Amino acid sequence: KKITIAIDGFSSTGKSTLAKQIAAKLGYVYVDTGAMYRAVTFFAMQNGYINAESLDKQSLINSLPFIKLHFEFNAALGFGEMFLNDVNVESEIRTIQVSGFVSKIAEVSEVRAKLVEQQQQMGKDKGIVMDGRDIGTVVFPYAELKIFMTASAHTRAQRRFDELQQKGQDVPYEAVLHNVEERDYIDTHRDDSPLRKAENAIEIDNSQLTREQQFEQVLTLVSN
Ligand code: C5P
Repeated sequence: KKITIAIDGFSSTGKSTLAKQIAAKLGYVYVDTGAMYRAVTFFAMQNGYINAESLDKQSLINSLPFIKLHFEFNAALGFGEMFLNDVNVESEIRTIQVSGFVSKIAEVSEVRAKLVEQQQQMGKDKGIVMDGRDIGTVVFPYAELKIFMTASAHTRAQRRFDELQQKGQDVPYEAVLHNVEERDYIDTHRDDSPLRKAENAIEIDNSQLTREQQFEQVLTLVSN
């Protein structure tokens, strides 16, 4: 019997890697909700709603009906790539500029309402692995399995740093650490739907776990 799997946690805890592996193994659909918040952020940047660190919130809210998001499965990559108004923005949404602003966009309740509704729609059929911040608490409070991933800020910043280096983005480690800590702060201090562990979520601290160990741990949980 197919179930709904919610994977929440701080940024760069390896949520998406794990979620993708689990989805591939079980033949489930994987949805990266962070990519959706990132795509809206990229849209706001493209349209000049973000200037000198400030956000023209009203213009963004007014244009929400014109933001169309969808994922297209890329068999070579093994996951769905993010499309914004029918344009593939998978690489544009992973820049440090987008990472630097995304939490501010995610604070806008109208943005959250739109994305949460779309996520619930995507998860109508069971057999889904969704990762984000509020999946077990807000999007799918009735998910059969909820995982909450944690790891130290240093471990996570190091992972982000390595990823950015691999993509040829030369950003100092300190800047990456600062970005990770800042997003943690904003994500945990949002009052409508703060990042928090759902009551029945199972916490996995992966600072000391290999990817393989985490994968096995979750598969065991699925089969129980
Ligand atoms: O997972 P990722 O790091 O790509 O998410 C980017 C940002 O999007 C997070 O830092 C958070 O501010 C926001 N987000 C959110 N709710 C989600 C997923 C992401 O607020 N479900």
